[in-house]
Amino acid sequence: MINHATSSHEDHTAAYDADTGDADTTQERARWPAIWRGWRGKCPRCGSGPVLHSYLKVNADCTVCRQEFHHHRADDGPAYLTILIVGHLMAPLLHWSFVHWRPEPLTLFTIFSVGCVGLSLYLLPRLKGALIGFQWAKEMGGFARNS
Ligand SMILES: [Zn+2]
Repeated sequence: MINHATSSHEDHTAAYDADTGDADTTQERARWPAIWRGWRGKCPRCGSGPVLHSYLKVNADCTVCRQEFHHHRADDGPAYLTILIVGHLMAPLLHWSFVHWRPEPLTLFTIFSVGCVGLSLYLLPRLKGALIGFQWAKEMGGFARNS
């Protein structure tokens, strides 16, 4: 990637990379805005284009800013984080409801199976987008600016 910095714009943007749109190629990308954009299913770079389609499939690139996503390495990360969160919420809740409420076994099973599946389906695409946003911000894998 070639740095297209021009001397006339140096007072506003010290360096501008025309390929990535990053204002300053030496500065780190902001991590939390990228994670939040990914959580909302949006491109971590521009916040407009969708990252995912068909629930969990990652788009090859952003339709707005052309940021490539195909080289992401989310892999099992979103599933791991989903199990981590759902498990740590549901296990104490199951214990609490059994001790204090003690409903019929079928009632308990129905509520917790629907709760687990529903929460997992809610979290999985959001955590996948957030993880891709994190990878983009940390320039992991193909998200590096000089690759
Ligand atoms: Zn974009």
